[in-house]
Amino acid sequence: MNYDVIVVGAGASGLSAAISAARCGARVLVLEKLKKAGTKLYATGNGNANVSNTHMDAASCFDSCGKDASAFLGELFGSKRADEQVRAFLATIGVSLVDRNGYLYPASKQASTVVWSLLDEARRLSVEMKTGCSVTSVRREDEGDRAVYKAGTEAGDIYCGTRLILACGGAAAPKLGGSKIGYSLAHTLGHSVNDPSPALCPLIVRDTDHFSVLKGVRARALATAYDRDGNVLRSEEGEVQFTDLGLSGIVIFNMSYPVPDRISLDLLQGISALTNMVSLREQFSGRTLIALLNGYMNDKLSEYIVRNCGYERNTGVSDVEDRELAGLFETARHLTFEVTKADGFDHAQVTAGGVLLSEINPSTMESLVSPGLFITGELLDVHGICGGYNLTSAFLSGIAAGCAAGGGI
Ligand SMILES: Cc1cc2nc3c(=O)[nH]c(=O)nc-3n(C[C@H](O)[C@H](O)[C@H](O)COP(=O)(O)OP(=O)(O)OC[C@H]3O[C@@H](n4cnc5c(N)ncnc54)[C@H](O)[C@@H]3O)c2cc1C
Repeated sequence: MNYDVIVVGAGASGLSAAISAARCGARVLVLEKLKKAGTKLYATGNGNANVSNTHMDAASCFDSCGKDASAFLGELFGSKRADEQVRAFLATIGVSLVDRNGYLYPASKQASTVVWSLLDEARRLSVEMKTGCSVTSVRREDEGDRAVYKAGTEAGDIYCGTRLILACGGAAAPKLGGSKIGYSLAHTLGHSVNDPSPALCPLIVRDTDHFSVLKGVRARALATAYDRDGNVLRSEEGEVQFTDLGLSGIVIFNMSYPVPDRISLDLLQGISALTNMVSLREQFSGRTLIALLNGYMNDKLSEYIVRNCGYERNTGVSDVEDRELAGLFETARHLTFEVTKADGFDHAQVTAGGVLLSEINPSTMESLVSPGLFITGELLDVHGICGGYNLTSAFLSGIAAGCAAGGGI
């Protein structure tokens, strides 16, 4: 069974690579371990698929992977805007996009539109697709003056191709296809891998008294992540969700890698200065502290703050001094949680770490270690914040690899 191009993985980058290679006239085979192609894509953006973003600054949107990644993505994106390239590619398969404050979605607001259109186009181009087919080994053999890649499957079949595209994704979200096998396949072919870690995931915090009262609360806050030395890692305003074990929500996801030492929440962001405690005490002397704070935030949060500052639930405003009242508001401006770890791959949207970018040609995604091998998407040591950046990098790396692999046949 000989092909020009074998693609391992039918996710965003694998399907865009397969289509791009087939458009160059290559005979393409896609091997996908799950029963359904594009399984993770269906789940993206809560089923709406946030495919790209008009604000696409590689330095700030992929900042937690360091300068190497921004330079690499700068080369991959080239001189044209990345979001425009995603828009143009999706238009060729019949998907038009709508812009919601810079976040780009399919006009249908259905991720399934993207998957079905990719699969229809792959079918039209006679891309062969084998699902339920897990690749467990890869090797490169030299046949005369050319190399042949052999992909072995769990079922014992071996497929041969002149070019191999590893598009197996990362370890995040195992129920949607995530696994670490791609890293070992790349390693077998000579690549080095930075240890994979969960990213864009909830953070587990050290259990504090009364934390359980917060479970299920959603609150708007300015969240700031600090490292062990007190340096600010990231600061972002948005909705924070409290779980039974920690903090979640997009702003928390965006600060989950590298794992911060602590997160501080300003719950009074946007609320004008509360300097006059004397008049507050006079006006609300008959109310409890919890009721007073509840005027500014969710009642569970006010209860948590009051109890953690050492007061009983029914402590009244008139029972405390002005400076104690000021202390409560100060706590609400700097409500701090010590982070113990990031939640695992099960709850992560992407993987930090992966195949070293220094071993990949950023214009073609071709391996600098093993010519004829291409590596795309999340398998690489690239991950962005929430907002369409990860799918953009998956689509554009897939297209680059497909064009180079298919064009070179
Ligand atoms: C719940 C969720 C929501 C998300 N929402 C968004 C969003 O709205 N916008 C955004 O930009 N990003 C989002 N992401 C991230 C984005 O989905 C990924 O970064 C992107 O899909 C990566 O594309 P990929 O092609 O590299 O990998 P994947 O899409 O993960 O595809 C890899 C494929 O390879 C298959 N595979 C793995 N190993 C093998 C093997 N050995 N043999 C054969 N097949 C194999 C897998 O089953 C999978 O189908 C989300 C992620 C999750 C989990």
